[in-house]
Amino acid sequence: MQPHVLVAEDEDALSELLRYNLKKEGFQVSMAADGEEAMMLVKERQPDVVLLDWMLPELSGIEVCRRLRSRHETRNLPIIMLTARGEEPDRIRGLDTGADDYIVKPFLMKELFARVRAVLRRIRPGLVEDIVTAGDITVDRVAHRVTCGGAEIHLGPTEFRLLDYLIQHPGRVFSREQLLDAIWGSDVYVETRTVDVHIGRLRKALNASADTNPIRTVRSAGYALNANRD
Ligand code: CA
Repeated sequence: MQPHVLVAEDEDALSELLRYNLKKEGFQVSMAADGEEAMMLVKERQPDVVLLDWMLPELSGIEVCRRLRSRHETRNLPIIMLTARGEEPDRIRGLDTGADDYIVKPFLMKELFARVRAVLRRIRPGLVEDIVTAGDITVDRVAHRVTCGGAEIHLGPTEFRLLDYLIQHPGRVFSREQLLDAIWGSDVYVETRTVDVHIGRLRKALNASADTNPIRTVRSAGYALNANRD
């Protein structure tokens, strides 16, 4: 699964450089050129991490950061501030914006990647770790192996991607449309019923080795992987 990074930066040259390099490094990238646009994009589709320029037009990076922290949905969204020389880290910390990290311009891309991965590892381990566990389900992304209650289970490629996605966000409810976008991509036309078919197969595979149902159907909302299973 490619982590989705939102870059909010108004300097064209830097924002283009970030877009190019992040894509090359395997990230999905969205771009915002001002603070209002950044807020709008986050509400539209929540990224996994935000690279937020400190000085942005319309709404400053500091204000964007505060607003994201005050919304329930984005309270824990990883945020890395991009600051210019002279905007000292101490001052940034003093302003208590709630950012998870900051990086001073100019920076090396490899330093930025390291920070992004460190923040993701800390806040969203399910996104960057090779082996992810929720309850008695374990997904090994390198070996492409899934176990449930200690027994290995065999999944088709779509079911594997569905489980891999759900396990990154235990307990969170996803609509069929959100799952379609995440697993099949927003540019592919697939009927929402297709999601039900693959969820059905995934459930059947998981239930074969456990008698509880790890995937919850939320009426008129969608599906969620139970965070804790008894
Ligand atoms: Ca700027």
